[in-house]
Amino acid sequence: MIPVMRPLLGEEEAQAVADVVRSGWVAQGPRVAEFEKEFAASVGAAYGVATSSCTTALHLALYVLGVGPGDEVIVPSLSFIASTNAVRYCGAVPVFADVDPLTGNMTADTVSAVITPRTRAVMVVHQAGVPADVPAIRAVCGEIPVVEDAACAAGSTLAGRPVGHGALMAAWSFHPRKLITTGEGGMITTDDAERAARLRRLREHGMSVSAADRHASGRNTVEEYGETAFNYRLTDMQAAMGLVQLRRLPAIVAHRRERADRYRALLAPLGLRTVCDPEGGTTNVQSFWVELPDAAPPVSEVLAALSQAGVSARRGIMAAHLEPAYAGHPHGPLPVTEHLTARTLILPLHHDLSDADQDVVVAALAAAIGLQSAVPSH
Ligand SMILES: *Cc1c(COP(=O)(O)O)cnc(C)c1O
Repeated sequence: MIPVMRPLLGEEEAQAVADVVRSGWVAQGPRVAEFEKEFAASVGAAYGVATSSCTTALHLALYVLGVGPGDEVIVPSLSFIASTNAVRYCGAVPVFADVDPLTGNMTADTVSAVITPRTRAVMVVHQAGVPADVPAIRAVCGEIPVVEDAACAAGSTLAGRPVGHGALMAAWSFHPRKLITTGEGGMITTDDAERAARLRRLREHGMSVSAADRHASGRNTVEEYGETAFNYRLTDMQAAMGLVQLRRLPAIVAHRRERADRYRALLAPLGLRTVCDPEGGTTNVQSFWVELPDAAPPVSEVLAALSQAGVSARRGIMAAHLEPAYAGHPHGPLPVTEHLTARTLILPLHHDLSDADQDVVVAALAAAIGLQSAVPSH
């Protein structure tokens, strides 16, 4: 079976984690601080605040903005459900904006169409690693804060800079389905020192002095709990792994982009549209999605046929408003979201996907949708 994704993990990660275990300090500590610094630097942000996941990072990002009951937060429905769930964690109401058919991302137009006097924040998602046009969206948002769900976007760029550069707050994921992983894990990057400091307290029970700092000081400092907060910490074992993974990121991105180009060269003659770089940006190709022609069978049938052929593909990006958890949740028309979620699927793309594997995938896809592939079968 050709898997849809496979994390790139080596001896260096195993060694780094083992070193932390042997050090005797496995909770949030020096490795987390180092990972925060290096990751933030890699996206051109001043501060990084590590969290247990991107989901908890998104919750904190909205929480720290004061989002609460009665507020509306604009999010795309076309995203992993964690984006919109984070809005509900704050007791606020997700307001779904539609997306652009080429990028799968919200645009200035789709956002401005759903802004109301109750809009308290906007969550822009860089879907599947394709950078969204944040400057244009910010321009229509005025004073409304824009936070970025960059879960998939480590290594993507916009206007020649890393995604996350200049973000009010960007939230990142280190789940194995993303390009670099710590098993589970997340981060918020920001340029605001005060906000970063509050985020650090919020992820650690509201403590005035972190447990790691109290330990390191060697003195008997008594901490204070200024507000009810959360335990959203990352561990030093995870951060040690993240530090190794971060060094691999440029090569991972280059390889995925090269594999994506080869997919496109094979799929274009079949008339199939695929995910691509947006104007002024580059994607890390976190997910390589392809759009089925109108005449093709439903995605579920195509996935079943691919599975029969030894190819593990996935449905396209989900749409939260179509899930039972959001049944009855009011929303405006979302035609592009509904089209993309119904008519796209995600093909295998990982570090050891060979030419032969790609040929098998393309031939299986062509057969499943009744097209003749030019690829010789192996
Ligand atoms: C994966 C993902 C998340 C959630 O990340 P976790 O680290 O698994 O919590 C949130 N938003 C988007 C767009 C994602 O793809």
